[in-house]
Amino acid sequence: MRFSRLYAPTLKEVPNDAEVVSHQLLVRAGFIRKLAAGVYDFLPLARRSLKKIEDIIREELDKAGAQEVLLPMVQPAEIWEESGRWKKYGPELLRFKDRKGAEFCLGPTHEEVIVDLVRRDVRSWRSLPLNLYQIQAKFRDEIRPRAGLMRGREFIMKDAYSFDVDQEAALKTYDAMYDAYQRIFSRCGLNFRPVEADTGAIGGSRSHEFQVLAESGEDHIVSCDQCQYAANVEQAELRIQSNPQIDRNGIKLEKVPTPGKKSIADIAQILSLPIHQCIKTLIVEGEGKLYAILMRGEDEVNLIKVKKLLGLSTELEMASDEKIERELGVPVGYIGPKDLKSKVHKIVADFAIKGICNAVMGANEKEMHIVGAWEGEDFQVDHFAELRLAKAGEPCAKCETGHLQAFKGIEAGHVFYLGTKYSQAMGCHFLNQAGEDLPIVMGCYGIGVSRVLAAAIEQNHDQDGIIWPDSIAPYTVTILALQADSPAVVEAALQLYQALQQAGIDALYDDRSDRAGAKFKDADLIGIPIRVAIGKKGIENGIIEVKRRDQKTVHEVPIDQAVSVIRGLIKQY
Ligand code: ATP
Ligand code: MG
Repeated sequence: MRFSRLYAPTLKEVPNDAEVVSHQLLVRAGFIRKLAAGVYDFLPLARRSLKKIEDIIREELDKAGAQEVLLPMVQPAEIWEESGRWKKYGPELLRFKDRKGAEFCLGPTHEEVIVDLVRRDVRSWRSLPLNLYQIQAKFRDEIRPRAGLMRGREFIMKDAYSFDVDQEAALKTYDAMYDAYQRIFSRCGLNFRPVEADTGAIGGSRSHEFQVLAESGEDHIVSCDQCQYAANVEQAELRIQSNPQIDRNGIKLEKVPTPGKKSIADIAQILSLPIHQCIKTLIVEGEGKLYAILMRGEDEVNLIKVKKLLGLSTELEMASDEKIERELGVPVGYIGPKDLKSKVHKIVADFAIKGICNAVMGANEKEMHIVGAWEGEDFQVDHFAELRLAKAGEPCAKCETGHLQAFKGIEAGHVFYLGTKYSQAMGCHFLNQAGEDLPIVMGCYGIGVSRVLAAAIEQNHDQDGIIWPDSIAPYTVTILALQADSPAVVEAALQLYQALQQAGIDALYDDRSDRAGAKFKDADLIGIPIRVAIGKKGIENGIIEVKRRDQKTVHEVPIDQAVSVIRGLIKQY
């Protein structure tokens, strides 16, 4: 491609609605433009990178035995009613009516459509296993579309769905897809971790997220520094730390004034106690009821685990200050578990509260706390469970010696064992070898293709622009003709451009009449992995300059060796 013909409008200024680096750079380097909130145009450079990601995905999924399909984006309400999600999905599902008044939605995901397809024609175990995927735009009316391609409303997803005869076969498919995902993200040149993830309402199932490590990620993940264990903090198993038992030895349960002190850190300080002896009482609301959660002062609550413990199907929320004061009659900051039972539906506590001795807690009275509290004697708990979020530095629950490290990640992919949730609800059955009629066992597997584009930039950039991994860069090489008015420079540039094409290496030839400085700037901004600079002086000595975008070294290369040197510089994943 000649740069003079390329539709890549680059910008000097950072667009003012772009907060994260990937969004800024994708707009500045002429990859995307915004049409509406969370809805973007993909320009030629972006389309090329997306296509490279899609091709890697296709190769690996085809190898894993999956077949590509393309399903409609417009989906009728009936199938969503059958699965029960027409009601459950909420406002993220964009619904509309056709001219006859029939209800439809834009597909945010395709479980319903694929199950409807498979149930029509698959009758027997002979048709299984079956694994179908597609790469297509999805629409989710996200409440806060943000960060450009990271959380769009319309975005490109690869979604796959597998159908097997039983759980054992389905888990084998799951493992094959997990391995394919490892290869896909490695080949995209990304630094990523597969982590154990929450399985939502379907208990006992298997789920992994593929997280691209980046400071701007929304997800918090932990991984062991010794063993293979890695998990989303929402899901991470933790080692239970038991409380040493202390005798009362005359320590009395006592109310003490704590005027103006609400935070746990303040309380610990004025009472000269370590923060882990302070009990934090949180009030949450779920399905119209209030629940109290007890945690140690330094721990954060994991609401996903609380929700599971309480068996709730809707989201849990922290109760508002007004609601707490109205229902409990206690100002926020002074709540404690003693005599709280009659005012909340249940009191649940993290394991770290079990057997806690000589603890501090709110007195359920303005500006008062209670000291000298023993769990079991001075207050009671309905259920104990692991309810805290994992922290960096704590011991690994899976091995003897390791400790957890904390990272931030961008969820680029997700593999999920579904079981028979959809096949049962929608009557997707088959006859097994013994002639029994059974629901097909399913798995689903997503990759945020357009999010991968953004995640790659979040992980690979500097102050000058994008640094694409070679495998997903829009072009592998860019040739800069530094003086586009010099016939010798133009001739050398054209010769190299053609030689690269013949060698199967995709190149962008910057033939514009701009200053050399502007060309270097654009090359760095767009982030093509290998840059070849051809200038008058060099040509006189038969030399051109070759530089990788991710390295400082400039290689002076005899022009007749250029192709082989460039080939050697391309990274293989
Ligand atoms: P998230 O937790 O980020 O909202 P999700 O768990 O709802 O994502 P899935 O339903 O598992 O997402 O979708 C599969 C993949 O699609 C995700 O792993 C992610 O990479 C991508 N994805 C999901 N929502 C968006 C979005 N709004 N914009 C871009 N990509 C998305
Ligand atoms: Mg997910």
